[in-house]
Amino acid sequence: MILINGKKAAAELRAELKEEVAELKSKHNKVPGLTVILIGDLTPSQIYVRNKEKSANEVGLKSEVIKYPDSVEEKTVLEKIQELNSDETVSGILVQLPLPKHIDKQKVIEAIDPSKDVDGFHPMNVGNLSSGYESSIPCTPLGCYLLIKKIEPNLSGKKAVVVGRSNLNGKPMTQLLLKENCTVTITHSKTKDLKAECLEADIIVAAVGIPELVRGDWVKKDAIVIDVGINKTDNGIVGDVHFDEVSKNAKALTPVPGGVGPMTIACLLKNTIDCFKRSQI
Ligand code: NAP
Repeated sequence: MILINGKKAAAELRAELKEEVAELKSKHNKVPGLTVILIGDLTPSQIYVRNKEKSANEVGLKSEVIKYPDSVEEKTVLEKIQELNSDETVSGILVQLPLPKHIDKQKVIEAIDPSKDVDGFHPMNVGNLSSGYESSIPCTPLGCYLLIKKIEPNLSGKKAVVVGRSNLNGKPMTQLLLKENCTVTITHSKTKDLKAECLEADIIVAAVGIPELVRGDWVKKDAIVIDVGINKTDNGIVGDVHFDEVSKNAKALTPVPGGVGPMTIACLLKNTIDCFKRSQI
């Protein structure tokens, strides 16, 4: 079984991006800039944002974090986004989710200029991805896609099952696999027989949020299994896939932690650089 090392893959991607930033700097005399807006003092969000800032600096991006207290008015955030939209030094804007209840998440997402939407959540980018046009792609599914392609460069005709249909993970993952000519089944909480669906799959991507949902006898021999889940349990952090059982069957499997997670931030940096490059054309 191939243990898919997301930490190593993310480090390789960051090294490539660092070189690309250096080339862009010598060509344009400026570097891509990422601005993150962080609202409130939720510890996981603070950790995510700190890691994003550290990785952005590591590859040579200009990075800025704008912090607001929980009580900030929606209007203040929307005005800041407008200001960043017209700031030429800002290539990518990310508003760290979740937001306090009084702030309308969709309004905030739609306020971001789609050409600077490094999370790929703006409806324009969602539509472009599903139409097969160039777009920003949500970072976690993009990371999963890059890991799958490392194992199996030609996905044409493969049967893929995506478990979970969130806008963040399952839906964009489905679009990426479709683009690669996979035959894709997207499953969710109302799917009648999830085990039977998974047993058909050459590729399984699980993004559910239920600890160890996907069991060993759900997985066909030689399937590629990507585990997006991050679940806190009494036994520590586990994924949506039962690692010990599935590792006996799968051809390749991502561990949790150390699989998909590290790729997510590396893909955010990639998206920022891609937004910059598109703005220079
Ligand atoms: P989400 O928005 O809660 O969506 C979960 C999806 O799973 C929903 O579509 C839901 O179906 C489906 N589901 C729930 N119970 C199911 C069941 N018994 N069988 C099949 N499908 C079921 O979650 P998310 O934001 O996509 O996140 C999923 C997991 O990924 C979480 O553990 C999260 O922490 C993790 N995550 C990891 C990263 C990373 O960087 N590695 C990034 C983001 C998220 P319905 O639509 O029918 O409700």
